[in-house]
Amino acid sequence: MRLLIMGPPGAGKGTHAGALAALVGGPHISTGDLFRDHIDRRTELGRLAEKYLATGEYVPDAVTDDMVRDRLARPDAAHSFVLDGYPRTDAQVATLDELLDARGTAVDGVVELTVPDDELVARILRRSAVSGRSDDTEEVVRHRLAVYTDQTAPLVRAYGERGLLHRVDGTGSMEEVRRRVEAAVAARVRPGA
Ligand code: ADP
Repeated sequence: MRLLIMGPPGAGKGTHAGALAALVGGPHISTGDLFRDHIDRRTELGRLAEKYLATGEYVPDAVTDDMVRDRLARPDAAHSFVLDGYPRTDAQVATLDELLDARGTAVDGVVELTVPDDELVARILRRSAVSGRSDDTEEVVRHRLAVYTDQTAPLVRAYGERGLLHRVDGTGSMEEVRRRVEAAVAARVRPGA
C-alpha cells in the first residue's frame, strides 16, 4: 500500500503520516526530515538544500527527485510506504508516476489534511518554541503557505480527478484527526499489499 499525505505546512502531516505508516506496514518518508538530516550531517545535498529551507522555497526538483528515488529504492519501501511532503510540484508528480510505473505499482491513495490558514500560522508559531526549526518564523511560514497554495494545492485536485483523494478535516484533537485519517484510508488498506 503506497500512500501520500498532503496538506499545507502545520496541517499535521508528519504526525499522521507516522500513524499511517504503522497501519500500512511501511516506512514514513518525509522529504523535509530527509533534507534536515542532510543539513545536520553537512552533506553536499544538505549544503545545497539549506538556503531553500531557510526561506521556505522549494528545493529544485532534480535534487529532490534524486533523494526520493534513492530512498524509495531501499528494501523497506519495496511494497508499502507513506510519502510526506512529496510530490509538491507537477514535475515531481510525473517523476513519482514514472518511478512507480517502472516497478509495476502506483499511488494507492492520497490523504489531504485541511486546516484554515490562521490556525496553521498559530500552530507553527506555537511549535517553533519547541521544534527549533529555523523556518518556523511568521514571515517564512506565511511564505511557505503561499508557495503551497500556488504550487502544491493544484496537485491535490489532480489526484482527486484520479479518484484517489481523501480529504480529512485536520482541526480538533490529534486523536480525533487520527481516527478520521484512519477511517478515510481503512477501505484501501490491505496490510502487506
Ligand atoms: P512543511 O510542510 O511544514 O513546510 P516540511 O518539513 O515538509 O515542512 O518541508 C520543509 C521544507 O523542505 C520546505 O519548505 C522545502 O524547502 C523543503 N521541501 C520539502 N519537501 C520538498 C519537496 N517535495 N520539493 C521541494 N522542496 C521540499
